[in-house]
Amino acid sequence: MSGIVLFQLYWLYYNFSNAQKSFHITAVRALEKSIDQYQSQQVELPTSLNYRSPSLTVFMRTKPSVQAFDLDTPKRKKVFKAEFNTVAIDKQHEPYVRALIARLMIQQMHKPLDLKTLTGVYKKELAKDGIVMPVILALRKKPLSISPDEVASVIAFYKSPVVVTAKLNSSGWMLRHNLLPAIVSFALILLSAGSLWYMGVIIRRQLKLDRLKNDFISNITHELRTPLTILRSTNEAIARFNVATDPEKLARYTGINADIINKLDGHVERIMDISMIDRDLNTKETQAVDLNTLLENLFRHFQAIENNQITLNFRGPKQLVNTDPYKLETILSNLLDNALKYAGPEASIFLEAVIGHRSWQLIVSDTGVGISAEDLPYIFDRFFRVNNGDLHDVKGYGLGLSQVKSMVEALNGNIKANSKIGRGTTFIITFPL
Ligand code: ADP
Repeated sequence: MSGIVLFQLYWLYYNFSNAQKSFHITAVRALEKSIDQYQSQQVELPTSLNYRSPSLTVFMRTKPSVQAFDLDTPKRKKVFKAEFNTVAIDKQHEPYVRALIARLMIQQMHKPLDLKTLTGVYKKELAKDGIVMPVILALRKKPLSISPDEVASVIAFYKSPVVVTAKLNSSGWMLRHNLLPAIVSFALILLSAGSLWYMGVIIRRQLKLDRLKNDFISNITHELRTPLTILRSTNEAIARFNVATDPEKLARYTGINADIINKLDGHVERIMDISMIDRDLNTKETQAVDLNTLLENLFRHFQAIENNQITLNFRGPKQLVNTDPYKLETILSNLLDNALKYAGPEASIFLEAVIGHRSWQLIVSDTGVGISAEDLPYIFDRFFRVNNGDLHDVKGYGLGLSQVKSMVEALNGNIKANSKIGRGTTFIITFPL
């Protein structure tokens, strides 16, 4: 991911600096061209340059000779030979010749530069290359050297050359012209980083499922092996001793076996439940239920098996709620069962119902060992069990809470769990009224 991000950033930077370089080159070339143009507008060029086949006639001084003309120069009379030579200028070289002659002439004449006109010419020249922006031109006498990031050109006026510098606000223009690639590349960065992140999430989820599956298998093997060992030994006992003569022993052994077989049957049923629950979810038989009575019945049932660890509490008006009583009982039994199993013998357990205006809630809480913040998000996952080292201390397959959640959702409700290690756990189920 870092590789992709770094490469994209490098690519963006590379593109940006390249664009900056080419902008600079274009701006300098346009300045030189406009100076040439400006200068050719300022002087009158030889008319022969405008002929259909342009030419220049060069006046050449050569060595003095007998047939020489007599020509006066301002200081002294000197005799030399003169020749006139007409040079044809081909189309290809014409602009250069014009520019050169204009430049030389203007330098000789020392005609001052009109920056305003030059700015106009420069702007037009830039526009030809698609650059439209405010331009400020200035003249500088010293230093004559031009730094690499400067847009400037030297005009070699005879004896007092000057530098024409141009100030262009390129950053805004550059940003506008590079914005689209930057946005696309940024979107690509987000897309690839997002995909990789999502892949990571899926892989982690798969790894977790794998671990849960292994835990489940080791759990179930353990649960099945213990009764099988007992069955084997009672069976061996029946075979080895002459139990037929001892009907009391026989009755005891067959009693044990029947118990074990029942237990095994229970295990198989619980495993069957996993698939049953999903099928059952769609068949919901709702009816008007008196919550108070339902909770009291449940409370009494639990009190019969446990000594007074559970406290029942009911708030809100006496009101019937529309729900599936069997599902509700299963949900609450599961939660109370868990509280009894995991909270510890010292803990108090509370079963509470609250009826509000728009919703009603069932709250099962305990003051037991609690669940760590690390495990809490997963307790409703199928096969998840808190790994506390002594995994098989309390029996279970990690299915209870996932079933509870499915059933609550089948009744259009939601379930939340709050817990703190050492403080206890609270399950809050909310149903719409
Ligand atoms: P099982 O009871 O079969 O292991 P559950 O889905 O019912 O599966 O519970 C998942 C895990 O949540 C349990 O292994 C247990 O560690 C933890 N747990 C559930 N209820 C409580 C509770 N009231 N207090 C502490 N831990 C709990």
